[in-house]
Amino acid sequence: MIDLHSHTNESDGTCSPAQLVAEAHRAGVTILGITDHDTFKGYDQALPAAAEAGLELVCGIELSTKLHGHSAHLLGYFLGHRNLDEFRTWVTGQQAERRDRNVRLVVRLQELGFDVTLAEAEARGRGMTGRPHFAQILVEKGYVANLRQAFDDYLDESAKGYVFRREPQFAEAVARIRAAGGIASLAHPVRVKGDIPALMPELCQSGLNAIEAYHSDHTPQDTQLYLGLASHYGLRVTGGSDYHGAIKPNVTFGSLRVPDDLLDQLRA
Ligand SMILES: [Zn+2]
Ligand SMILES: [Zn+2]
Repeated sequence: MIDLHSHTNESDGTCSPAQLVAEAHRAGVTILGITDHDTFKGYDQALPAAAEAGLELVCGIELSTKLHGHSAHLLGYFLGHRNLDEFRTWVTGQQAERRDRNVRLVVRLQELGFDVTLAEAEARGRGMTGRPHFAQILVEKGYVANLRQAFDDYLDESAKGYVFRREPQFAEAVARIRAAGGIASLAHPVRVKGDIPALMPELCQSGLNAIEAYHSDHTPQDTQLYLGLASHYGLRVTGGSDYHGAIKPNVTFGSLRVPDDLLDQLRA
């Protein structure tokens, strides 16, 4: 069984890299893609455990990008061929950008009179700390009634606590992955705002060469739609559960069946 989309606690999962490998192995996964947000640390650390368990790891990453002003996640695979130092340096820059935004966000929220620290937010969000974690704190401390109000009044782009974060444009992130010799796959397209079939020509123009047709959020109809688009545009197909551990308890290894032969096409 293969699963090409999972997260360790180096981004927003709850399992350590070794625990993730153990969980996957127990469920019968033989080839596992680790796709942490903006970091290869989980993959790097999982290598010894995977070797011991006889489980093959696929090196992956998940990047947050902007597509027509909205968030779109992009998966990168097989980033081991050339120019990888340059790609890893760029990825480290993305992490630094995220952290810098959080530092500025804490200052802004403190200016607005809230007792909020970066440590509190990072305890919740770890390597993926962002606005949802600050929203949780504002709710828990009784500053707002709920998460919606936290965003509406303070955290949304038009709200008074908003602090800008520079995210790469979709096309730039695709180009970075392709230049590093990797496969760039549109992650969980069902979550991307906009009409995916209508966006396809533009996405392919940018160099996108795969689409995640199999994902825990997809209905069988969604999967059929994305498989059809993949075949129409000559894209490769990726798939994975998007396992996050205890934080998303209904997503387990083995809960999503991904055809094993995808990997041969990806490697070809
Ligand atoms: Zn994602
Ligand atoms: Zn993910």
